[in-house]
Amino acid sequence: MHCYADFSSIYYPNIENTLTMKKRIVILGAGESGTGAAILAKVKGMDVFVSDSGEISAVYQALLNQHGIAWESGTHTESLILNADEVIKSPGIPLTTPLLQKLIAQGTPIISEIEFAARYTDAKMICITGSNGKTTTTSLLFDMLRRAGLNVGLAGNIGNSLALQVAKEDHAYYVIELSSFQLDNCYDFKADIAILLNITPDHLDRYNHQFQNYIDAKFRITRNQTASDAFIYWSEDPVINREIQRIHPQATLYPFGSNEQNVAYTDGTQLVVDAHPSHKPLYVPLSDLSLKGKHNQYNSMAAGIAAQILHIHNDVIRESLQQFAGVDHRLQYVATVRGVRYINDSKATNVNSCWYALESMTTPTVLILGGKDKGNDYSEIDQLVKTKCHTLIFMGKDNSKLIQHFEPMGMKYISTNTLADAVQAAYQSAQSGDTVLLSPCCASFDLFNSYEDRGQQFMDAVRQL
Ligand code: ADP
Repeated sequence: MHCYADFSSIYYPNIENTLTMKKRIVILGAGESGTGAAILAKVKGMDVFVSDSGEISAVYQALLNQHGIAWESGTHTESLILNADEVIKSPGIPLTTPLLQKLIAQGTPIISEIEFAARYTDAKMICITGSNGKTTTTSLLFDMLRRAGLNVGLAGNIGNSLALQVAKEDHAYYVIELSSFQLDNCYDFKADIAILLNITPDHLDRYNHQFQNYIDAKFRITRNQTASDAFIYWSEDPVINREIQRIHPQATLYPFGSNEQNVAYTDGTQLVVDAHPSHKPLYVPLSDLSLKGKHNQYNSMAAGIAAQILHIHNDVIRESLQQFAGVDHRLQYVATVRGVRYINDSKATNVNSCWYALESMTTPTVLILGGKDKGNDYSEIDQLVKTKCHTLIFMGKDNSKLIQHFEPMGMKYISTNTLADAVQAAYQSAQSGDTVLLSPCCASFDLFNSYEDRGQQFMDAVRQL
């Protein structure tokens, strides 16, 4: 007997299903990917149950109800989960949770939404991973494919889940942003084109504090690839290089970097992409690229290579590189107030991404940084802070680590605990011709709901100056 009395909410329209011989799919976590997977499983005629230990948002509840899918929220009822033939797990749930350990112990396969959805489509899969630059590169490549008129879907961490699209409006191509967590539970999934942008330590709390485990997760993007598939990667990343020597991926290699030994490179004044023998090389002046900064040159190269492999005309690739509007909260121009440019780079949640933001600064800079520290080592940005910034504004609940690090350098700094104070301090410190850059190096959860919330509040405050 099922007891639902203690659940914060429950909807179970078809208990009889559990008694039939249909394949039972249990989905843990009802966010975008879980709800999409549930709908696809339902469309494919399976017995589906969705369980989320937290609240399920009203939008997803409505979608599940609309498709007649059983679900629970606020709890995990083991008797309804341990009888699964297969479990699809949200990327946010660590495998170390007791429920997953039970499933593993009894041998229940646990897969990701991507692995599941890919079984039901013949589309070409173009997948992007890396520690930084995934969303930008994914969005840029999607823009190129769309401009070329291909029937393409955008999936992974952005937009609608892959599973939902496969269920509702399958496409011929998908450009998919993959986090290491999504790759963790992929087994038979194969990327026709895989892009690995860079690897720097991140999310180590989910990888037993072993960097190699995180590297292994990232390299799962090459799993099952053969010589007729493509592996595009940044050739100057020491971690990627070492790993390629070690595991010898089977795919055809397409390196990008800063010299002619790569199939895409910069020659100081222009970006060159020469990825395919049947394709003429593409030349675009660096000053014409709509996305600024060295990191975005890498992202542009990676997307350009993939587009050439897909036989997209150079004119279309060039047009996209020149016109792509960028993604919100990534070096996003906000406004110019009294001759000072304000830039929102709220998505810079680690030190490495702030490094690239600073590297792209061309005027004296007031840097706003701080937030929830994830074990940061700020020495990585010391040199750029010295050469590019005249003032640092710390913005966080606890700024002591930032003060401890930057005070001995003799930098001018102002310590604030609210966004309003930080923006005011920046406004007072900046002079005409300067840039105020919000590039926090830290997660946002001490003062904000998310990096989007932080970026939006920053933009609102700047627009009120
Ligand atoms: P992700 O999706 O991997 O988090 P985004 O495209 O959202 O990456 O960019 C996040 C931050 O990382 C941006 O603020 C930007 O400054 C920085 N960044 C973008 N591309 C790169 C890159 N190729 N290398 C290093 N940092 C990058």
